[in-house]
Amino acid sequence: MRIAVLAVQGAFIEHEHILQRLGAECVELRKVSDLRGGFDGLILPGGESTVQGKLLRELHMFDALKEMITSGTPVMGTCAGLILLAEHLSNDTNAYFGTLPITVQRNAYGRQLGSFSASAYVQGLPEGGEEFPLEFIRAPYISGIYDDENVTPIVTIPKMPDGSEGQNVVGVRCQNQIGLAFHPELTKDNRCHKMFLDLC
Ligand code: GLN
Repeated sequence: MRIAVLAVQGAFIEHEHILQRLGAECVELRKVSDLRGGFDGLILPGGESTVQGKLLRELHMFDALKEMITSGTPVMGTCAGLILLAEHLSNDTNAYFGTLPITVQRNAYGRQLGSFSASAYVQGLPEGGEEFPLEFIRAPYISGIYDDENVTPIVTIPKMPDGSEGQNVVGVRCQNQIGLAFHPELTKDNRCHKMFLDLC
C-alpha cells in the first residue's frame, strides 16, 4: 500500500515512521511531480496551516489533491491537516480544500491550554478496547458540523476550549475523510493509523 504524506512543512516524518512500521510504503509530497506515481491514501500532517496552504498553491499541488479527495481518495488530516480539510474557518478569511463540512476555529485553546493531553475512546479503531492518548498542540476546535448525515463524530473530550465542561468533538469521519484535532503520530499507539490504512 502506497501512502502519500504531504511533506512541505510540519510533523510529516512522525506519520511516515508509524506508517512504515505498519508495512505501508510512504511517498513524500514536496513537488507536483511527486503526485505522478499514484497512491492509495493521503496524510495531511500537523504544522502551520497557513504555510502549508500557501505552499500547496505555490507548488501547484493544491488542485490535484483537492480533486483526489473529492473523488474519494482516503485522507487523514491531523491538526493543521484538519484545518486544510475544513469547509469553513471561523477566525480566518482563508479556507483550503474545504472538503469536510465542518467549521473549525484555529488556535482555539488560548495560552493556558495551548498544549495538553487527554485520552478518550475513538470510534472505529481496529482493536477497540482502550482509550487512545490524545496530544493537542495549538489545536483547532470543531465548532460546527453541518452535514449530520455524513459527518460522524468519532472522538470527544469532556472539556471545551475555554476550560468549561462540555462535549467537545475532536475527531470526525466523513466518508473517505478522517479529521483529527490531535496528533496520533506523536504517540506510541498506532491504532488511528491502522484505522486509516483499513480505509485505504
Ligand atoms: N495552530 C496550527 C494552525 O493553525 C495548527 C497546529 C498544529 O498542527 N499542531 O495551523
